[in-house]
Amino acid sequence: MSEMNNGESRCEKCQKSFSTADALSMHRKVKHPETKPVEKDYNPVFTKWKIPIIVVLVLSIGVAVLASGVLQSNTLKTSLNIEGMQFPTGNVHWHANLDASVCGEPYLMPNAPIVDHLLHTHEDGLIHVEGAAATPEQITLGKFVQRLGTAFNANEFNGKKIGDNCPNGEKITQMVFLVNGNENTEFENRVIRDGETYTIRLESAEGPA
Ligand SMILES: [Zn+2]
Ligand SMILES: [Zn+2]
Repeated sequence: MSEMNNGESRCEKCQKSFSTADALSMHRKVKHPETKPVEKDYNPVFTKWKIPIIVVLVLSIGVAVLASGVLQSNTLKTSLNIEGMQFPTGNVHWHANLDASVCGEPYLMPNAPIVDHLLHTHEDGLIHVEGAAATPEQITLGKFVQRLGTAFNANEFNGKKIGDNCPNGEKITQMVFLVNGNENTEFENRVIRDGETYTIRLESAEGPA
């Protein structure tokens, strides 16, 4: 209706004039069938940009989700070594050995009540991982030692820590942590794997080798 001019309607495509709006409408239908003269009440800017805006929004969200996923998996990889492992694990039944000592005294694994079947032990003194682990955090050596009712990290094990005295008076100076006999710096963050042996020695450097 912007074409209305002195009671006259003009077609903006071919500049032809019509005496009535009906005549113009009819002309448009016939000559310019793609033109829809009545539907002028929407916002043409929004309509024009609607699809690009949606595409941009979806892309931005997608990029954000991907980026956070990459960040998450990166932090996970730096804090926990899960090389060669898939999570969730599905149902597993793994066994690992714990060979621990404090001041040269062998640590005897208590027959702890099973509070968490995913990580438990029996009279066999083995670490049992039984069930499905959703994340690597659920089956770390630190979590297992917690289930035994004590703590393990780079400085402490079973209530003793570096700086404490051994029963013979020597000062505890080091924590040795081995995985299958090889030195390892993961300590409590070691994700338990089937068949591995973990050696924990909290000792005096001059003490028993
Ligand atoms: Zn078992
Ligand atoms: Zn069991």
